[in-house]
Amino acid sequence: MSTIVQKYGGSSVGTIDKIKNVARKVIERKKKGDDVVVVVSAMGKTTDNLISMAKEISQNPSKREMDMLMSTGEQISISLLAMAFQEFGYESISLTGFQAGIKTSGIHTKNRIADIDIENVKKHLDEGRIVVVAGFQGINEDGDITTLGRGGSDTTAVALAAKLNCTCEIYTDVEGIYNIDPRLYSNAKKLDTISYQEMMEMASLGAGVMETRAVELGYKYNIPIYVASSHEEKLGTYIKEYDETMEEKVITGLTVSDDVLMVTINNVACGGKNISKIFERLAQHHVNIDMISQTAPLNGYVNVSFTTSNEDTCTIDEIANELKEEILGIEISKVSNITKVSVVGIGMMKQSGVAAKVFSIFSDNEIEFNQVTTSEISISYTIDSKDKEKAVAVLAKELNLSDDYPL
Ligand code: ADP
Ligand code: ASP
Ligand code: MG
Repeated sequence: MSTIVQKYGGSSVGTIDKIKNVARKVIERKKKGDDVVVVVSAMGKTTDNLISMAKEISQNPSKREMDMLMSTGEQISISLLAMAFQEFGYESISLTGFQAGIKTSGIHTKNRIADIDIENVKKHLDEGRIVVVAGFQGINEDGDITTLGRGGSDTTAVALAAKLNCTCEIYTDVEGIYNIDPRLYSNAKKLDTISYQEMMEMASLGAGVMETRAVELGYKYNIPIYVASSHEEKLGTYIKEYDETMEEKVITGLTVSDDVLMVTINNVACGGKNISKIFERLAQHHVNIDMISQTAPLNGYVNVSFTTSNEDTCTIDEIANELKEEILGIEISKVSNITKVSVVGIGMMKQSGVAAKVFSIFSDNEIEFNQVTTSEISISYTIDSKDKEKAVAVLAKELNLSDDYPL
């Protein structure tokens, strides 16, 4: 007998019928003699709808209250799922993040799991219950309800698996992890395995199928993560430690992120620590900066651009107003129709030339880019969102990522 953590995402519990199906699938596992902890997200688009309601009241609502509001979505799905188990004749209990002992730290809406007091979950498992835990939420030092950032139920699941030292299965609305989002590129190829490092990079660069922090936790505690369809019995993808049996290919995946806000600050006088003042202010407001580019000084002035998440638009406006008072003459503009396209692969550590190849693919296809950043295993480009589909199609073809080519 072993313990298993299974997580079902929002679309997998989107209706009452789907909740009943999830219950049946979990019961199959329970019948095999395993202890099951089930983590669920809010039903369907519930979290989006809760956010829309808040936005009808305020464009910049208190983050504490947003956490209070958003955490309610998962409470609906956990209680309904526990009822379904009970109705099918199985003992079950639903637990909120607090009741499951999930302690968080950080700032509201972007919390991290600091620790889990796993005793209550274990007690219910030992007493034979299927334990249903609310994803995405926890409790901070002040006793306030917190959330872990969008997609955070994955993190809840992997963190619980790490505490219980067991495998984590993530069930979702696609058959596994593909080298490109299959909804964006229909000829994408499903991967049998992917290394933690590559999945972390793909997730952080926009592959929303897994939350980045969840993969980080899996990597840190060496927890095997299996991603598969919640409604089809097809083999999914294992996320695990890199080993030689994983074919060595230069590029494993291509990701796209539309959540890019590009901010440009023109006419910044060189010297006077203006640039450091700008970035210090952004850091004080917890704005996560992604890419940065700066022009060469011209007549003692530079222009600097950086990208961040659209989520921080209101905070950027506040900071812009402050900075305009402090650094006279600067002009600040925002552009949101920007897409970040990235290629990811551990093979890039050993092989050079990928950036050059992408530059030439872009120029042959008249796709202009703004910023470029690289890490050891990825290269990212920001482009105008209107060129997104074209960029994905030509890169997939030229870099042999399409299902028409053997990997
Ligand atoms: P859940 O509600 O189950 O958490 P998500 O919507 O968060 O589901 O994640 C699943 C979605 O991730 C898929 O519908 C797919 O469009 C998207 N996705 C993005 N990149 C990839 C990828 N590389 N492989 C598979 N799915 C991906
Ligand atoms: N319900 C939350 C969200 O929509 C958490 C999750 O789905 O993982 O972001
Ligand atoms: Mg998700």
